[in-house]
Amino acid sequence: MHCQPDHKHQVYIWLKNEQTCLICDEVTESVDCVCNVCEIELPWLMEQCDRCALPLPMDGLTCGQCLKRPPAFKQVIAPWSYSFPVDSLISRFKHQARWPLGRMLAGLLGQHLQHRFDNAELSRPDCLLPVPMARKRLRERGYNQALLLTKWLGTHLDIPLNDHLLLRPQDTVAQQDLDAKTRKRNLRDAFTLACDTPINGRHFALVDDVLTTGATAHSLARLLINAGARQVDVYCLARTPKPGG
Ligand SMILES: [Zn+2]
Ligand SMILES: [Zn+2]
Repeated sequence: MHCQPDHKHQVYIWLKNEQTCLICDEVTESVDCVCNVCEIELPWLMEQCDRCALPLPMDGLTCGQCLKRPPAFKQVIAPWSYSFPVDSLISRFKHQARWPLGRMLAGLLGQHLQHRFDNAELSRPDCLLPVPMARKRLRERGYNQALLLTKWLGTHLDIPLNDHLLLRPQDTVAQQDLDAKTRKRNLRDAFTLACDTPINGRHFALVDDVLTTGATAHSLARLLINAGARQVDVYCLARTPKPGG
């Protein structure tokens, strides 16, 4: 077959003009696949705990839970509260393999982070780490949504990722079905670190789709800090309004 540059050009123009918003299906010129109206209407997380991003009535406060038991991570960065339509977008990305939705949300999270790096509100980590998925779940689902998010985010922010440092040797019961106390007990010894990666003095960011109680993030951050990491942050798409909620 020979080249048909005119047709290619037309296809390019068509793709460029017919971009539709992944939320409302309206035509949009935005390269992020979400129109301005839908982006503004997303449940942006406003006042929150300065450690775990739990929604609070005022900014600059630390929630009771973090005061009582300070988490091993320094801070959670989550642009949205886990409510409509972000909850449904994440669920479709995660459970129905709607990857363009995950990619769109990762792009917006990337912009959010880049903005905070540029304003010196946040320091760039040396490396991104996807929260590992239990092997049984990985077999059932076929992919780890946290790893996909980390890859998109890493490309967007130009930060390397490491997907073999955090290991999950034991399959744990699905965390969302457990209360906070059982989650903690269950998470003890659930993770280990691969011994071939330098950790000492490095700044890491854990990446996951949703932060619920923060117990998983805390366990992983504690492992890294105990191994000499300088700082561990958590990047996720959404934060649940209440622990376990
Ligand atoms: Zn829209
Ligand atoms: Zn907190």
